[in-house]
Amino acid sequence: MTPERRPLIAGNWKMHFGGAAGVELAQAVAQLAPALARVDLVIAPPFTALAACAHECEGRRVQVAGQNLHPGDAGAFTGEISAPMLIDAGCRWVILGHSERRQLFGEADAFVAEKVASALRAGLTPIVCVGETLDERTGGRTLEVVSRQLVAFLDVIAAAQAPVAIAYEPVWAIGTDKNAGPAEAQEVHAAIRRHLGGKSAALASRTRILYGGSVKPDNARDLLAATDVDGALVGGASLDAASFGAIAGAAEALAAR
Ligand code: PEP
Repeated sequence: MTPERRPLIAGNWKMHFGGAAGVELAQAVAQLAPALARVDLVIAPPFTALAACAHECEGRRVQVAGQNLHPGDAGAFTGEISAPMLIDAGCRWVILGHSERRQLFGEADAFVAEKVASALRAGLTPIVCVGETLDERTGGRTLEVVSRQLVAFLDVIAAAQAPVAIAYEPVWAIGTDKNAGPAEAQEVHAAIRRHLGGKSAALASRTRILYGGSVKPDNARDLLAATDVDGALVGGASLDAASFGAIAGAAEALAAR
């Protein structure tokens, strides 16, 4: 594992903990950080709690991510938030192309790629999500779908020379308590890394590929032990500091070996 591929455990809070409760959760996560020196910790609160959580985490080895952005820097886009605004709020990261954005809000591959470009221009590190639906998996189209989603933003990340994380999140595993097995995850992660390597060896060796989809304390170790799994994007289990800490603890123990 290259130093750029330090384990990364990111919590996607979705539409939960948007106010004072978010700050309390951020504080609880920050208290875990000293015992997790080998792991990078990121939390993605709702927009309304970003600045307060970033303030709470300042200097405490927990960084903050937006859950989305609009690709424009500013303008007449009611209800939207731009990359420079996320920076102003104290974010260093942003989750993009989450399957809920793709499925519920109609985000197409090209729009996700615009967002990735905007994030990188502003100095945010994107965590770009890819993953197949259950129909696509049962139809044997997993690698085709993931590669189509990846190709849409591959040139953007190859040109940027900046760190990027990719999260492989099978849609059928998100919030369902069904996760890909370590071998299933590894197969897709290795295919993603091969794709990156087709662009440049440096891109393949610096890009962290996270697994996401019902990662819990009891399955984290096996998933994180897979060769090309560099961390996890955690939804439900990130809403409880002890569970999030146990997942990050599994990454810490593996990194200490
Ligand atoms: C997610 O939404 O990114 C996610 C992985 O959710 P969960 O862990 O709840 O499946």
